[in-house]
Amino acid sequence: SQMVYTFGGGVRHDDPRAKDKNLLGGKGANLGEMASIGLPVPPGFTITTEECVRYLKEGSDFSESLRAEVDKALNHIEKTVGKDFGDAADPLLVSVRSGARVSMPGMMDTVLNLGLNDQTVEGLAKVSGDDRFAWDSYRRFIQMYSDVVLGLDHGLFEEALEIAKEENGYFADTEMTADNWRALVDEYKSIVKQEQNGTPFPQEVKEQLWGAIAAVFDSWDSDRAKVYRRLNDIPGDWGTAVNVQAMVFGNMGDTSATGVAFTRDPATGVKEYYGEYLVNAQGEDVVAGIRTPQYLTKAAREASGATAPSMEEAMPDAYKELAEVFELLEQHYKDMQDIEFTVERGKLWMLQTRNGKRTAAAALKLAVDMVGEGLIDEKTAVLRVDPMALDQLLHPTLDPEASRDVLTTGLPASPGAASGKIVLDADTAESWAERGESVILCRVETSPEDIHGMHAAKGILTARGGMTSHAAVVARGMGRPCVSGASAVSIDRKTRTLRIGDHELKEGEIITLDGANGQVMAGKVPTIEPRLEGNFATLMKWADSHRRMGVRTNAETPADCAMAREFGAEGIGLCRTEHMFFDANRISAVREMILAESEEGRRKALAKLLPEQRKDFVDILECMAGLPCTIRLLDPPLHEFLPTGDAEFAELADITGFGVDHLKRRAEELHEFNPMLGHRGCRLGITYPEIYEMQARAIFEAACDVAEKSGEAPVPEVMIPLVGTKRELEILRKLVNDTAADVFREKGRELDYLVGTMIELPRAALMAGEIAEEARFFSFGTNDLTQTTLGVSRDDAGRFLSTYVEKGIYARDPFVSLDVEGVGQLVSLAAERGRATRPDIKLGICGEHGGDPASIAFCEETGLDYVSASPYRVPIARLAAAQAAL
Ligand code: PEP
Ligand code: MG
Repeated sequence: SQMVYTFGGGVRHDDPRAKDKNLLGGKGANLGEMASIGLPVPPGFTITTEECVRYLKEGSDFSESLRAEVDKALNHIEKTVGKDFGDAADPLLVSVRSGARVSMPGMMDTVLNLGLNDQTVEGLAKVSGDDRFAWDSYRRFIQMYSDVVLGLDHGLFEEALEIAKEENGYFADTEMTADNWRALVDEYKSIVKQEQNGTPFPQEVKEQLWGAIAAVFDSWDSDRAKVYRRLNDIPGDWGTAVNVQAMVFGNMGDTSATGVAFTRDPATGVKEYYGEYLVNAQGEDVVAGIRTPQYLTKAAREASGATAPSMEEAMPDAYKELAEVFELLEQHYKDMQDIEFTVERGKLWMLQTRNGKRTAAAALKLAVDMVGEGLIDEKTAVLRVDPMALDQLLHPTLDPEASRDVLTTGLPASPGAASGKIVLDADTAESWAERGESVILCRVETSPEDIHGMHAAKGILTARGGMTSHAAVVARGMGRPCVSGASAVSIDRKTRTLRIGDHELKEGEIITLDGANGQVMAGKVPTIEPRLEGNFATLMKWADSHRRMGVRTNAETPADCAMAREFGAEGIGLCRTEHMFFDANRISAVREMILAESEEGRRKALAKLLPEQRKDFVDILECMAGLPCTIRLLDPPLHEFLPTGDAEFAELADITGFGVDHLKRRAEELHEFNPMLGHRGCRLGITYPEIYEMQARAIFEAACDVAEKSGEAPVPEVMIPLVGTKRELEILRKLVNDTAADVFREKGRELDYLVGTMIELPRAALMAGEIAEEARFFSFGTNDLTQTTLGVSRDDAGRFLSTYVEKGIYARDPFVSLDVEGVGQLVSLAAERGRATRPDIKLGICGEHGGDPASIAFCEETGLDYVSASPYRVPIARLAAAQAAL
């Protein structure tokens, strides 16, 4: 099948493959599409991702047929532009860029100005009438090609440039003359020859081209690309396309420029053009953050107080045309676009468009605004917001009332607030974060090599670079607050210090960033809870109207319950009663109960716990008035409650009257080798029924009290954990029913309640048909079900699972995102068998997966009635459940 697709120069493709992002990459498909709707796109061609995959798999040979297709496509560019590749008199130059299915900013390689050599540089000088430009382009090309394709150390070239400037007494690159560049080209060529043991810089333009194509393909497997893929769940077998395109030059003097723009503000979503440009500069200069760029619009320039003219002021005609392109692109793609453009001697060229990365707040605003503008419908709006991104909005922001010790103000590159310790490099950021520290990564500028450190950091601060610099784009994508271009900041890697004006801060000192206004503050600034109004509420309302499954929460404290309700929880899916036992005032009664050697001893201790538990349940049932509440009876291994230190034993000895030695011996007896598979879950209820009896009594007494007080009867759902057999549930259900009957008799009222079970053992899933005879509901405990099905300990998996994910053994951590293929089978099977026995059985999920969008999609497919997630995940689950239903 076709391996190369051309664009520009009036080509139109009927072939649907030519629009396929999977095949041509996002950049290639969009270049083709922009060209076909009549926008000014320099002609070029795209080599498919299929070819990349083939190349990486079969080794580095290019087939004859690919070479033939590339020759033909090159010919298309030559004809369109009217220049020939390698022509010494008037050479065609091309760019060679990567472009995967989804954008991976800065992760893979690019080569510009390709096609220059000792002859064509002279031609370029003549045709452009600009010697300096031609030789500068040539040296840029050698530098980039040597780095990207030949794999030489770019430091060698930078050093040579520094020396050349020093020798001439220059400060900036712009002071270099044509002759200076010419001399530097000679120097560069000799560096290449020396570093390659005598092999000179390639002069043959076709050889240059194939070298660059190979390098772009290879960059798919570079370390930084792999890290990015892992962080963003991008499969390793997609490959990248290669885009070869006629060069246009933003560095042909003061009527030329290059820029990056968004059709709306990607940080806030506000409908105003947003972007930056640099006069007399080439492609990557803006993104690389080397020069601080100028604003696109007059309004933005004025708002910032900057003096360098905006594009609107300096190049009004090109700006006007650009603004028209913005409108066309939004109408066409019906989404906010992220654009790269170049102005060559006054003429505008489009080099890229893609759906722009955005913050969560911007995503919501864009979605809601675009519905208002009639650009998209409500369903599209619901589908457009990434549920996980909502997480950014659910966390605290800086308290506007708190005092701020502002050290400096940079650009508000990515909103949100973060406090943490200063770290000066990505590796340190990662290692400190691993030991649980909050860190702020501070860099002169970031590069794709820093990606793991940016991910580990709570926030990012850079001294250089604009709003569209690498740091800004990546931080927005990751939802990390970022202040960029804080030019008062200087970093001394040797003494590990950060200087801001007169302040000297050591690595490890705490600073706070406000990504919404660019402030950098000393120390930690207090925060306040988020408010979920406006666009958030609107989008959530739309989502809820399309959602089929219910969304509950996993919570056990009144504070968590209240927050979850605020976030839209429709009940409790899992109240883990053991968390209530760890309370400082109760733990000794719990220990007394566990260490007791007789039922009588246990009952004595349980009697102390009963009023406490009853109060817990009253609080929760009141908070969730009118909503279903699933309360799980005690689950964890007793082992976990045992006293450890001498002080704890001494205290217990005091309370119980037993000697310390006796208690220690008893604790040793209770010690387990494999507590997760030991004396836990319903096994506790089977062996020590008085524990479950006390808990059931507390639940029903609380329910009666709440009914009495509020007039509204709660419907508790009593849940038995870790059931593997019908008989276990039969015994324990009877215990719960008998207790309920006792309480109702005492209280003189009857309440509805349900008894059900968790499905968290493979046997329970297999026997679900039989177990359903005893259960009014199943709640899938996919944490334990994953642990027991995979035979992987949930507490120890951290040590090796990341390697498993890296090697592709599991696509994602199965404790985070349900192993649909494996564990999922047990869930579907249990749901099916449970329903066969009891058609109205309630089915839910309460493992961590209940808050994971991919797992929620699976729950929808399986027809579960609800998902339950931790309070902060509730909005994510609401949106994900709506998307799954659409
Ligand atoms: C589960 O196993 O999925 C579950 C919800 O219970 P826990 O995490 O408390 O073991
Ligand atoms: Mg469990």
